[in-house]
Amino acid sequence: MTAVLAIDIGGTKMAAAMVDAEGTVSSYFREPTPRSGNAESLWQRLESVLAKVLADAGVTPDGVGVGCSGPMTWPEGVVAPLNIVAWRDFPLRQRLREMFPNVPVRLHNDAVCVAIGEHWTGAGRGAHNVLGMVVSTGVGGGLLLGGRLIDGASGNAGHIGHVVVDPAGPDCACGGRGCIEAIASGPALVAWAQRQGWRADAEATGVELAADARGGEAIALAAMHRAGTALGIAIASAAHLCDLDTVVVGGGLSQTGALLFDPLERALRRHARMTFTRNVRVVPAQLGQRAGLVGAAALILRAGQYWSQTEEYLEVVQ
Ligand SMILES: [Zn+2]
Repeated sequence: MTAVLAIDIGGTKMAAAMVDAEGTVSSYFREPTPRSGNAESLWQRLESVLAKVLADAGVTPDGVGVGCSGPMTWPEGVVAPLNIVAWRDFPLRQRLREMFPNVPVRLHNDAVCVAIGEHWTGAGRGAHNVLGMVVSTGVGGGLLLGGRLIDGASGNAGHIGHVVVDPAGPDCACGGRGCIEAIASGPALVAWAQRQGWRADAEATGVELAADARGGEAIALAAMHRAGTALGIAIASAAHLCDLDTVVVGGGLSQTGALLFDPLERALRRHARMTFTRNVRVVPAQLGQRAGLVGAAALILRAGQYWSQTEEYLEVVQ
């Protein structure tokens, strides 16, 4: 039986599990990502999560697949996640190779892994041309065309977060202006809502904003409308550029259902006017927290579709 150790590392959590050939997740463990400490203490925290998974599973993995927050050098897997300050140019893939010297270790952007997971066993299953999006503390994504993952020159194809939807919009952390991430990410949306008079509380998050929207609070509802409209505009552009048939939207905001998806659909239909974009389908993600792990495992288990690099090439670029 094939069993892959899958790892998902982001600003809030370090999760790992075993994933089998059907994409079933077992022996799942997670720890909060430490807010303080250095590169080595963070690595030790990850090692302790992996030890729990391996002890629980009682098998030796046939490969290791990793999704990690970007940016990173890809496919080398030297990571410098914006939301994990202790890791600046941390050789994550190399460290995992030392731990698992006899099996392939493959790493990709966490949003790319979510897109792969949803394509393999989730909401994008059976579709050939899919953009998978994550709308959360940032906005990211991954692109599959003709049923295969598209990497791009640096592994960032499908990163829709910095597609511009309003050139006169708010400044973006990337240095640009009016990117979808500057408008529809959780923190951007909270900042906008607070400027309109929503909770002044400095700790308020997108989760509370979404909850208030579900409760009918007017500013929170307007914030969901703003995010949905911006997402619809970005998706219309992506649909024209890539001739998509399905867009999967995941991340915390996607849990708000029609409050987000109705304005999204209206904006999408207003801007997706070419015949070939009229049938693009936008659906909420299905796998939740498991998507990134399933996608990371697919880098090993479904390499023909989702992994373009050869092991020989990886030896050269080390
Ligand atoms: Zn940007």
